Amino acid sequence: EQLTIKTSTHDYPVVIDQGLRFKLKSFLNKDYPSIYIITDSNVAPLYLDDVYNALKANYHVSYSIVPAGEESKSSRVYFDLMTQLIEAGVDRDGLVIALGGGMIGDLAGFVAASYLRGIDYIQMPTTILAHDSSVGGKVAINHPLGKNLIGAFYPPVAVLYDVETLQTIPFQEIRSGYAEIAKHSMIHTPPFWEQIKPVTLDESLSDATLIRDLIHGINVKAAIVERDEKEANIRQFLNFGHTLGHAIESELGYGKMTHGEAVAIGMLFAMELSEQYFSVTLPIEAFHNWLKRNDYPLTLPRLSVNQLMTRMKRDKKTKNQTIKMVLLKTLGEPVIIDMEDRSLRQQLEAFLEKMV
Ligand code: NAD
Ligand code: ZN
Repeated sequence: EQLTIKTSTHDYPVVIDQGLRFKLKSFLNKDYPSIYIITDSNVAPLYLDDVYNALKANYHVSYSIVPAGEESKSSRVYFDLMTQLIEAGVDRDGLVIALGGGMIGDLAGFVAASYLRGIDYIQMPTTILAHDSSVGGKVAINHPLGKNLIGAFYPPVAVLYDVETLQTIPFQEIRSGYAEIAKHSMIHTPPFWEQIKPVTLDESLSDATLIRDLIHGINVKAAIVERDEKEANIRQFLNFGHTLGHAIESELGYGKMTHGEAVAIGMLFAMELSEQYFSVTLPIEAFHNWLKRNDYPLTLPRLSVNQLMTRMKRDKKTKNQTIKMVLLKTLGEPVIIDMEDRSLRQQLEAFLEKMV
């Protein structure tokens, strides 16, 4: 399967296939004098050799392995990578390959965006969640005061999604990634959610189902980012579930809950708000059952409403004192609403009561 994403600077292919890591050479459209692979300590032992060996006969290849985990999306790791690229002699015509999940995609993408004012990079996503992060060109590292605060819009030259690599991701990461697929389904026409609803995330999950859902998710994302590359308007729809999700993630501390698990709770909350706001009926119960069946964490330790509100206000999508939330007018019809502080707080309190 292959689709093409259009951006203001260039078009790039998203290729989804089994065993792509062995055939990388055929996707390089330039004679890169040097190639620099960036990966993490979990992915390296599994797939780095394959990628390295696919290229070493024809290219000058170097690599860096950073510690796995969100902590590596830091200014220190970023700067160390810069040092290594300089020392490896990577020049303006060099290529970075981001081999890993969304953490590596964001980090290596930001390295590529800023090294020598920008060099080419390829996304090689290895998690389900990365179907989301590898497409759309948003790259970033974290600041201690907030996630993704230092970054750029910088599209890759290709996304090469070797779905074979998904066979080794831990179960929690399958859940995390499928939450983002569910998100894409909720902001798209209802048949997509109907397609996700019966999916069970256990041994019965077939490659065919997974690939079908990944492609569908990527298509939803691609259609949105093509119309709004720099997040001036409709790209914000992709933040459905993320206002509360991000707040929960940072309030709990990273690693306690995966990104997708936190976003799943955020989506439940956004759906409840939507029902109230628009007097509409959404498939909240069906979604809740789906989450339960798939062992998503649906209880939260006592979290402070004040802290969550503060974090939601600090969210970079927030303007003034109102909090911008993505709500659903109906399934598949997202809208951005400025929520008034007081009513949001009340609803959040009621929501958290139910989640203990
Ligand atoms: P991740 O990259 O940290 O991967 C999750 C875990 O799985 C890590 O421990 C990793 O080492 C391991 N792993 C990765 N691939 C593996 C494989 N094939 N086999 C075994 N283990 C493997 O996290 P993620 O969930 O993929 O991505 C989360 C990141 O993505 C966050 O930093 C988030 O901010 C970012 N993100 C970015 C965008 C965007 O548009 N740029 C969108 C969504 C999320
Ligand atoms: Zn997300």
